[in-house]
Amino acid sequence: CGIVAYVGHREACPVIIKGLKRLEYRGYDSAGVALMNGDLSIYKKKGKVTDLEEFLADKDTHGNIGMGHTRWATHGEPNDKNAHPHYSSSGNIAIIHNGIIENYAALKTLLQEKGHTFKSDTDSEVFINLIEDIRVNNNCTMPEAVRLAMHEVVGAYAIVVLAKDSPNQLIAARKGSPLVVGVGKGEYFLASDATPIIEYTNDVIYVNDYELVVIKDGELEIRTKEDVKQTPYVQRLEMEL
Ligand code: GLU
Repeated sequence: CGIVAYVGHREACPVIIKGLKRLEYRGYDSAGVALMNGDLSIYKKKGKVTDLEEFLADKDTHGNIGMGHTRWATHGEPNDKNAHPHYSSSGNIAIIHNGIIENYAALKTLLQEKGHTFKSDTDSEVFINLIEDIRVNNNCTMPEAVRLAMHEVVGAYAIVVLAKDSPNQLIAARKGSPLVVGVGKGEYFLASDATPIIEYTNDVIYVNDYELVVIKDGELEIRTKEDVKQTPYVQRLEMEL
């Protein structure tokens, strides 16, 4: 399973697809992308990254910000609807997630009672609806909603979240599952490991557990889930492809 996301001056989709291929060795059963192209569009398919590429061939995949995922199913069988990314019930925000949310069943029941609807059998769709619920109830920013949601979920995650109303913002967080940021010139990459990144930049930040990464308008900020601002530690990798 794997995660790749991009924001910058390049077309996001080809960067993401190439990155997902580099992460194929990690194993997966489905693949998908979300792209910000005026709308927040999601394309996903059971099968190989090449199947996703074929599916994308006649779609509008333009846009400079997006995220992609390869899924190793833990909750819900491998099929198109369980593939990531997942929208929240309003369709305003979307998530990719690697890992397992252990308390998803209890959270799902609570969210359903509040009117949230679910299209998949995944624990990940519960996570994004939880974020949406917190955001609406607290009338807070997206990063703040993700930060507060990190206090509610039990389990392992590397996530990336996109919101329709913040078309220049990537939000990511981790606990347990790996997450690396690539820092380029006026561009940022997110990935499960450095292999999708090093072709573009050797400068990386390894995200720590319980950290939240917000990339907006070319600026990167890292906070702990306790809302303490961190000084990003940029490491230079001497790795080659
Ligand atoms: N638990 C999630 C699912 O089953 C994510 C699996 C993964 O890490 O790819 O969809």
